[in-house]
Formats: sequence, C-alpha cells, structure tokens
Amino acid sequence: MSEKIELIGLSKEELTQQLKDLGEPAFRAKQIWQWIYYYGKTDFEEMTNLSKPLRQKLSEHFSLTRPQIVDEQISVDRTHKWLLQFADGQRVEMVYIPEEDRGAVCISTQVGCAMGCKFCHTGSQKLTRNLSAGEIVAQFMVARDAYNEWNLKEQARMLSNIVVMGMGEPFQNFENLKKAVNILSDGEGIAISKRRITVSTSGIVPHIADFDQEIGTRLAISLHAPNDELRTQIMPINKKYPLTELMPACHQYQQNHGGYITFEYLMLQNFNDTYAHAQELMQLMKKYQINAKFNLIAFNPWPGCDFVPSSNNRIHAFSQELQKHGFAAPIRTARGQDILAACGQLKSKKSAE
Ligand code: SAH
Ligand code: SF4
Repeated sequence: MSEKIELIGLSKEELTQQLKDLGEPAFRAKQIWQWIYYYGKTDFEEMTNLSKPLRQKLSEHFSLTRPQIVDEQISVDRTHKWLLQFADGQRVEMVYIPEEDRGAVCISTQVGCAMGCKFCHTGSQKLTRNLSAGEIVAQFMVARDAYNEWNLKEQARMLSNIVVMGMGEPFQNFENLKKAVNILSDGEGIAISKRRITVSTSGIVPHIADFDQEIGTRLAISLHAPNDELRTQIMPINKKYPLTELMPACHQYQQNHGGYITFEYLMLQNFNDTYAHAQELMQLMKKYQINAKFNLIAFNPWPGCDFVPSSNNRIHAFSQELQKHGFAAPIRTARGQDILAACGQLKSKKSAE
C-alpha cells in the first residue's frame, strides 16, 4: 500500500477532500476534525461516533503523528522545555513558560535560521529547513498532551497563549505559518484565538502588510537597536531592510490597528543600553510617529557569544527613562535559564551532543 497521508496540518478543506476521495460526506470531516483538534486523539479507534469499518479504513489511509519527545527538562521556575524530533530526524526545541494562572507555549517555525543575528544561538546554526504547517501545529499539541488540556474551556487552560518566538524567522516560512495559525485558532478545534498568538519577526518588511491582512495575530518586531549602524552590526537583515523601511511599515501597521507596536529590545551592555541610546530610541519613534511598547529583554549569554548582558541597574534605568516619556517598557526577565530554555538559547541538539 502507498504511504499513509498525515492529517495533522491539513486545512479543513483539504481534510474534507481527503474524506471525499474515500467516499465519505463532508460532515465526517467535521467530526474527525473535532477528534483530532478538540479531543486530541491520536488513534482512530477512539473516534467512537464513527463506525468500526470507517475507523479501520481511516487507519489504513491516514496517520496522526506527534513529533517524538527526545528530551525534556523542567526548570526550577517550572519552565518546561522539550526537544522534539520530526519524521526525518530534524529537531527543534519548544518551551512552555508558566505564569500564575496562564502561560505561553513558545513554538518554532524553522530548523535553524538563515538570518544570522549575532546574539542568537539559533542564528549561529544556519537554516536546515522550514517546518511544515503540521509540524508547527503538532508542537503545541505535544504541550497540550503533556498538561492534559484537551477538551477544556478557554478559562480553564494554563497553556493559554502561543508565542511564535522559538527557532526560525516566521516570515521566511509565511505560507506554512499562515496555515498553522488557521488550524491553531480554529474555534472547533484547538481554539487558541488569534489575540492570544504573537508572532515575532526580525523585520522582513514586505511581509508586515501581508501578515496583517492574511494572518492577523499579534505582532512583535525585534528591534534591538536605536539606529541603523548598530542594528546592522547585530542583525544582517538590517542591510536589506533598514530602519528607513522598517519604521514606515510599523507606522502603517499602527495606522491600521490603533494601539501600539510591540518592539523587542535586547539589553546588551554598552552596546545599546545607555542613556543616550534610550534618547535615540525615543527620537526614532517620534520621527516616525510610532506609539511603541518596548519589551526589554535580558540578554541570555551562550557559549561562543561575546555580548555581555546589561546590569539590572542599567535595564531599570533604561526602562524608567522610556516610561518617563510615556512609553510602556516592561522588563522581561529570563525564564528557564538553568535548562537553557530562555530566548535565544534554543538549539536542535541534545545538551551532550
Ligand atoms: N526570529 C524571530 C523570532 C524568534 S527569536 C525574531 O527574531 O523575532 C525570539 C526573540 O528572542 C527575538 O526577539 C530575539 O531577538 C530574541 N533573542 C535571540 N537571542 C537571544 C538571546 N541570546 N537572549 C535573549 N533574547 C534573544
Ligand atoms: Fe533568527 Fe530570530 Fe535568532 Fe535572528 S533572533 S537568528 S531572526 S531566530
């Protein structure tokens, strides 16, 4: 028999078509969708409102695969990290960051990353390949399995949010990201609403408008520097899309939405964290009339990277200076550092390899 078709990652329309090809009516697709994405079932035998012969037929033609859990660690602060392996042996890390009564699951879109940001461990690995829509969705499904959160009301979930801030540049895998977001946010399935999903980009400018139109989750832009000279030193993408292009795109995005633009700003000692840098950053926002919120991220060092994290005093002073002028500037402390689960520390090998 030919190879089985993987159902996870198919759009509703594609699933309906697959079943039609087997001679099944459209409402079956709806039932099966619920079993897969609302109840989280991985075995067709458990789909009890389907006849036995149909269950048999489904398992002959289709599969429902989770990535394999190769390694798993839980930090003293309860941050949970998984090393996941896909069918071809490629691996990514996923992290769950719990807070008091909710939490975010941080998922990846690529194995490695082509953008080569100097401060990022993932960026030091080069791009191996894009993840498929199914592989993006299946990461979150592993987390939901682990915390037994299938078939739960939104208010009862600890895994309440998704941040696309793991490995890879999401906008370089745009179509698969879009398909994955549609599945993750579908109200008859996993049902994480788009308001609870945040996609972070290093600033691939032409995709910002498309993202807004076609994906429509929350957006965060990794800025990390107040001028082109510094940004180019740490983010090669800035040569292609400098601030003179990125800032107007952010302005336009804001025009469409109101509210503020969320920027991530990594705090690197003496590089971008002084009083003068804070002034320059605010000037930049003023120039492009952007109402910004800055997430100030403590830099997580990794072996082989020369940057030094800013001191806590510096970070607080920077934050206060921005706040004094009306910008929200919360400080994001690192989570799960003891298990190398913090931003920019993810990689695709086991620690010993
Ligand atoms: N590629 C996307 C999303 C993944 S990176 C992007 O760059 O936005 C998610 C966030 O982690 C980005 O803001 C990134 O700049 C940040 N990051 C990367 N390396 C880091 C490090 N060593 N310490 C802290 N944050 C880091
Ligand atoms: Fe890629 Fe984001 Fe890391 Fe830059 S920070 S190398 S874009 S994952």
